Amino acid sequence: MSSRKKLIAGNWKMNKTSADAVSLVQEIVSAIGKQTDVDVVVCPPFTSLESVGKALDGANVKLGAQNVHPEPSGAYTGEISVGMLRAFFASYVIIGHSERRTYFAETDAFINQKVLASLKGQLKPILCVGETLGERESGATLRVVQTQLESGLEGVSKDLMTSVVIAYEPVWAIGTGKVATVEQAQEVHAFIRALLAKNFGEATAQKVRILYGGSMKPANAPELLSQKDIDGGLIGGASLESRSFLDLVKAAAAVK
Ligand code: PEP
Repeated sequence: MSSRKKLIAGNWKMNKTSADAVSLVQEIVSAIGKQTDVDVVVCPPFTSLESVGKALDGANVKLGAQNVHPEPSGAYTGEISVGMLRAFFASYVIIGHSERRTYFAETDAFINQKVLASLKGQLKPILCVGETLGERESGATLRVVQTQLESGLEGVSKDLMTSVVIAYEPVWAIGTGKVATVEQAQEVHAFIRALLAKNFGEATAQKVRILYGGSMKPANAPELLSQKDIDGGLIGGASLESRSFLDLVKAAAAVK
C-alpha cells in the first residue's frame, strides 16, 4: 500500500444555495465523525463558503473553493482572491477545471499564475488536467496532459510541490457517466507521476496525490482507487448527495 493518504474531494459546481449546502455538509460531518483514514474536502460555490466553513468547524472535513484569481485585490469584477478564501479558512482550491478551461477560456499560463498565487497564500491547489475525446482518439492524451501539467506547475519549487494535488480528469468522462477504464486511468496517473519525478525528483513525486475525476461513483470507485497511482477522487455529480459521497469515502478507506 502506498504511504499517500487517500483524498476524496467534492466539487459541487454551481449547485446548492447556502442553506442547502449547510444541510449537505452537516450530513457529511455527522457521518464522518472522527475518521482520519481518508482526507475529505468539500468545494461549495463561493456563496456558501462562509456558511459551510462554519459548519465544518472542528470537523475532519476541509473546505475548498472552485476557483481563485491570482491577484491579491483590485479591479477584477466578479473575482475572488486567495486572501478572501483564506479568510473563510479554505485550505484547498480547484484550479484549471476543464469547465473553466472550456467555458471561460482559461489558458495554461493563467492557470499557472493561480497555482503560484495559491501556494504563496498557503492554499493547496488541486490542479486539473485531462484530454478531450478528440484528443484521446487522435492519440494525443499524454502530450496534452504533459503540456497542461508542466505549464500549470511552472515555477513551483520542489518543497511547495508536496502541497499540490493533481486531478486527472478526462474531459469525456466528466458528468457523462462514461468512466475511464482502470487501465486508461492508471496509465495516465503513472505517466503524471513519472513527469513529477523527472521535474521534482522521485521522493517528491511519491508524496504528491493524484486524484481521478470523471463519473466516479460508489460502484466503480473500489477498482479505480486500488490502482497504484490513483490516490483518491475529485467527485462532481456523486458529491451532491451525502449517501453517494460518503460511500466514496468508505470505498477509499477500504483500499488496502
Ligand atoms: C468534475 O467535475 O470534477 C467531475 C469529476 O464531475 P463528475 O464526477 O460529475 O463526472
